[in-house]
Order: sequence, then structure tokens, then C-alpha cells
Amino acid sequence: MTALTAVRGMNDILPEATPRWRDLESVVARLLAARGYQEIRLPLVERTALFQHSIGEVTDIVEKEMYTFTDRGGDSLSLRPEGTAGCVRAMIENKLLAQEGAAHRVWYAGPMFRHERPQKGRYRQFHQIGVEAFGMPGPDVDAEQIVLSARLWETLGISAVRLQINSLGTPASRLAYRERLVVYFSRYERDLDEDSQRRLHTNPLRILDSKNPDLAELIAAAPALPDSLDGASRAHFAELCALLEAAGVAYTHNPRLVRGLDYYTHTVFEWITDRLGAQDAVCSGGRYDGLVARLGGRETPAVGFALGMERVVALLEDAQIASPQLVPDCYLVWAGEGLAAPALELAEQLRNSSGLRVIQHCGGGSFKAQLKRADRSGARFALILGEQEWATGSVQVKPLRADQPQSTVPLTTLPAWLAQQDIGSSR
Ligand code: ATP
Ligand code: MG
Repeated sequence: MTALTAVRGMNDILPEATPRWRDLESVVARLLAARGYQEIRLPLVERTALFQHSIGEVTDIVEKEMYTFTDRGGDSLSLRPEGTAGCVRAMIENKLLAQEGAAHRVWYAGPMFRHERPQKGRYRQFHQIGVEAFGMPGPDVDAEQIVLSARLWETLGISAVRLQINSLGTPASRLAYRERLVVYFSRYERDLDEDSQRRLHTNPLRILDSKNPDLAELIAAAPALPDSLDGASRAHFAELCALLEAAGVAYTHNPRLVRGLDYYTHTVFEWITDRLGAQDAVCSGGRYDGLVARLGGRETPAVGFALGMERVVALLEDAQIASPQLVPDCYLVWAGEGLAAPALELAEQLRNSSGLRVIQHCGGGSFKAQLKRADRSGARFALILGEQEWATGSVQVKPLRADQPQSTVPLTTLPAWLAQQDIGSSR
């Protein structure tokens, strides 16, 4: 049988890369916990109707990117293409928003699935960290989330990102804008590509999201959304801008930023980069005040964002930011009659009492062969336990990363001896 391969666009994240992923996840988790966001874990599969009703029927995601299948019971299900819909479903279903005035901050992390054309920074299974806040209508929480994302870049050492913001206003102002766009683009209908011609009558705002460079000029000259905003929407946006300025977060107002999904109202924002080719969006979000009610819950304002982890990891690599390493402190080399149990115990004892990372050699072999493995493991020290050492209650300690002599250390003082070498201190 020929070797099986992974599904196109679905990647393995190999052991050499996972420390960076874990580090990124823990930095985000820490920043979120510091602001009262609680983790929520959600299914990867939902009813297809959930995505049709939330993301919108005439969006790229629902029209052509979803992995949809009929399960054995005959239900139409889809792999989640994004997290907000499932999160809102869970909040409603579990009655977390049932009480008047309920407010929640939640986050989740995990894989999302979209049948897109795979290329650098664009995959069919990719990972997002999603952040959502429910029950807070004001620009204060919009600002909280944007500042949080800004703090994340700062903490990670990523500088090649810029923030764009815009306001879509209320559903009424969005509708008014929609009509102005239809009038404008209808005049140039023949210049539009096929996708945009179709969108002209279904979802004209999406034309502004087009990545076709031939349309860039036409889009740049289209009417801008801010002219259609009502007073309350303008005030919301002005307050957000003031809060970002006060927090020292630089932004540009891009009046043509609309975002691909149907459910946004008021604030939308996107962190973009010019370091990842055509895939410029690293983190995107906005306010979706109507979605909870649209999915059957009580009228609840909400705001959230998602960041694409593959793209953040690519930015960390691009900026040559060192990845944390998970090398062992010690590699225990052992051989001899009756030493299996003592070796096991010694390794356990060092892990438990000193918190060291200790690999115990398994699989036998000569001392020479074992030492070769010890060296390849990246460990700082090889601990050598043979019959002679065991008889005298000691081990040989062989430094593997420095040109230092080997020493004989009594088992009773080994933890103290290793502590003196300052290992494990980088954690
Ligand atoms: P794009 O414009 O690049 O298609 P999007 O607007 O579809 O992005 P969102 O649905 O807002 O993206 O998802 C949030 C984030 O998830 C994006 O900013 C991006 O970093 C990441 N992302 C989206 N689609 C993919 C994908 N196919 N592969 C990898 N990351 C993705
Ligand atoms: Mg997309």
C-alpha cells in the first residue's frame, strides 16, 4: 500500500513546532485571564443551519467553503468554519444569557475548517483563538478587546502589524449604505468580476472585501460608509477612537473595512500585516449586537474577535523570535543486573523533588550507544548509573553541553548538586 498522506490544506504540527504553539496559547490565556475572560470548550461540528443563519447565506464561507455532510441520522452538519456561531449557540442553549443584564467574557481555541485554496497562511484546517464578550453595549468593551490584542503583539514581540478600524453602524445604517453601494456598483456592473456581479444583488458590501486587484480602483472610489451613519453610531465610534488614543494604541480608520460575515454592527477591526503575502489579516473582529437575538436568544449586545494562530506563528518566525525549547535537564543512562527498578526510582525522585526534566533511557544498549542518545536529546547532563555506581550509592555526572570534567556525585547529594548547576532556572 502506498503511504497515506494528510488531507490537502490540513497540517501536522510537529514536536519541534509545538513549544511555540503552547507558548503562544499560554501567553494569550494569561492575558485573557487577567481581564476576566473564561475559557469555553465547544464542539467542532454543528448543525449546518446554525452557520447559514449566523454567518449569512451569501457569504464566501457558507456558499463555498464549508465542510458539510449528512450524518448517519440524516442531519446536515458542518465542521465549524469559525467559532462565534457555536459560541453564541452554546451561550443561549445553556441559558447563560437568559437573565436580563447578563454579562459574560469567554474565549476558546481550536481548529476551524474551510475549503479554501491552500497557500501560505491559508489552510483548510487552521486554528483560531476566539474572544467574545456578551451583554455590554458600549465602546468600552470594544476598546478592551482591541487593547488586549495590542498587548498580545507587544508581549510576543511582534511589531509588523497595523490596526484598521471602522464602524458599520446600526442595521438601518448598514441597509442605507447597502443601497448607496448598489447604485454605485450598478453603474460599473460590466467591470465587475463574476463574484462581485452576483454579490451586487445579494450582498453588495462583500464587494468591498474583494481581493481582486482589478477592482481595487473601483472599490477605492466607492461611497464610504461613515456618511451613512446615524448620530448614535457616530458617537459610539468617536468614543472608541478616543479610548484607543488614550490607551496609546495607533490605528487607521479604513472606511471600506466591512468584514466578510453578515452579523457585524458598529465596530469592526482588523490587524493586518504586510509580511505574509496575500494573507494580510492576522486578527479580526467586531461587534455583533443582533446575532444573539437572531439565533433565538434574548436581545444581547456582543463583541468579539478571532486571531489566526498559523499566521501569528508565521509572524513570530518571520521576526526570528526564538522559540521556547523543551530540552531535558538530565538523561539517565543505566545498565546492570537489577538496576531497572533503582533507575526508574532515581528518575522519578529527581522529577518529583527537584522538578527537573529527566529522560530515563529505555531500550537497553551499551553505555556508548546510550550516551549518544543522551547527547542527541539536548540534555545538559548525562547521569550514568552502573553496577559500580549503584554499589557505592553514587552516579557519574557527565556534562554534555560544556567541556567540563565528569564527576562522581553521591545519590544523597545529587539534587543539591544539580540545583547548584542552575539547571531548570530558565523556566
Ligand atoms: P481572510 O480575509 O484572510 O480570508 P477572513 O476575513 O476570512 O480572513 P476571519 O473569518 O475573520 O478571516 O477569521 C479570523 C482570522 O482567522 C483571520 O484574521 C486569519 O488570521 C485567520 N484565518 C481565516 N481563514 C484562514 C485560513 N483559511 N487559514 C489560516 N488562517 C485563516
Ligand atoms: Mg476568508
